[in-house]
Amino acid sequence: MAECIFCAIIAGSIPSDKVVETENLIVIKDISPKASIHYLIIPKKHIADMQSLGSDDAQLAGDMMLMATRLSQDLSDPRAFRIIVNNGAAAGQCVFHLHMHFLAGKKMPGF
Ligand code: AMP
Ligand code: ZN
Repeated sequence: MAECIFCAIIAGSIPSDKVVETENLIVIKDISPKASIHYLIIPKKHIADMQSLGSDDAQLAGDMMLMATRLSQDLSDPRAFRIIVNNGAAAGQCVFHLHMHFLAGKKMPGF
């Protein structure tokens, strides 16, 4: 989609620090990390937010979850990570291309 920064990263027209790429996902390092490990799990398909997921996207949504598990396997403690999806501007979403934050490498307080 025009003017979407994550679509530009996926297309290769904006550089990124890529961690993993699969047929339908890209994982990059967040440019402004909030923990020593802060990745973004991004579907290659432009989907604005969680409400925009359709039933056709069930596999893709599952693949995003499974990617988190795959990424955790490289952690010193594979059970210690946090997944965040900011949905909507009022909840802190800045980039309107669905993504999951994967955070690890520091002690995080519970809610
Ligand atoms: P959100 O607030 O949930 O929409 O998260 C968007 C995230 O994208 C933020 O944590 C930003 O630091 C990150 N971000 C924005 N531009 C880039 C970029 N060019 N490369 C990597 N991460 C980015
Ligand atoms: Zn996009």
